[in-house]
Amino acid sequence: MAKVKVAINGYGVIGKRVAEAVQKQDDMEVVGVVKTSPNYIAQTAVEKGFKVYVPDSNGLERFKSAGVPCEGLSEDLFKDCDVILDCTPGKVGATYKELYTRLGKKAIYQGGEKPEVAEASFTAQVNYDKSVGKQFVRVVSCNTTGLARTLNAINNAYGIEDTRAILIRRGPDPDDIKTGPVNAIVPETKIPSHQGPDLQTVLDVPIETIAIKVPTTLMHMHVVTVKLKNPPKDVSEVVEMFNKAPRIVLINGKDGFKSTAHIMDWARDHSEARGRDDLYEIRVWGDAMSLRGNELTFMQAIHNESDVVPETVDAIRAVMELCDAKTSIEKTDKALSIA
Ligand code: NAD
Repeated sequence: MAKVKVAINGYGVIGKRVAEAVQKQDDMEVVGVVKTSPNYIAQTAVEKGFKVYVPDSNGLERFKSAGVPCEGLSEDLFKDCDVILDCTPGKVGATYKELYTRLGKKAIYQGGEKPEVAEASFTAQVNYDKSVGKQFVRVVSCNTTGLARTLNAINNAYGIEDTRAILIRRGPDPDDIKTGPVNAIVPETKIPSHQGPDLQTVLDVPIETIAIKVPTTLMHMHVVTVKLKNPPKDVSEVVEMFNKAPRIVLINGKDGFKSTAHIMDWARDHSEARGRDDLYEIRVWGDAMSLRGNELTFMQAIHNESDVVPETVDAIRAVMELCDAKTSIEKTDKALSIA
């Protein structure tokens, strides 16, 4: 069977990662990526073997004078593909919907877009089937993906009566020199923060989220308290349950994982198989959990730059009707060396 032809609109933090992840699958291939500036990132895309396109004729001139190879206009790339991964900055993706519609192409958006941009919001382990055959799908954000994975596993095992999650969010991404905070802790002055309602676009559980931004670039961290309908005997059962759930990895403070810095240090030491220090799985502290009556509290760390990458690959299989959720998750995980 011919490989699915994937175009990537926006080659930044998420775009470059999904491009490499798609290339590692045996049933899809990247036919081109869209970049706005002829900078080192565009040059790296070329070095990695990707064909680079630009949104407009201005871009053609700028790439030419910078000496960075460019294949042509993004609209021509889109015409020649089966599905577009829209990895442009939040809210920019929605401005492309008219073009994708006119070209009759399927598009997969990221979590910076509003849910209404798509026919379905997506987390593979939770609601893959809702996106099968759809034209427009949105992979939920990094924070929401983290919550969806662990809360879906908990809900399936014990049932969820209520949830409160405190989200300690990284300030900027590591390559972002314009965004803070540098010396402040910044609460989102609205409760619930947007991630709670966002989670409910994929998983129907009661939740209130409170978000706080801190001066770090590495990861997000969540402190989650869940009231369970049918609680287990003790936390060892919860550890076992998480161990069996896809794309969740247990870590322990006693093994030296005392912070997000230690988790990312581990990632750097284990980057060979994945080609970069990305952590697709959600890290949950197994030795820092408590169960008081029916109230379970746990902490999880989210590598925001990469947890949505395997979900995006699965979303391609869903919209293209290539296989079922279980088969897709297994294929993606094998190709990306996911635990
Ligand atoms: P980014 O700024 O790193 O990359 C965006 C890319 O799109 C850049 O290469 C930029 O040049 C390009 N671009 C800008 N305007 C464009 C246009 N009009 N046409 C084509 N390309 C254009 O952004 P990102 O962090 O990769 O975020 C992309 C999406 O993924 C957003 O919806 C975001 O909310 C979501 N997301 C981001 C993260 C994260 O941690 N950064 C995590 C999960 C989801």
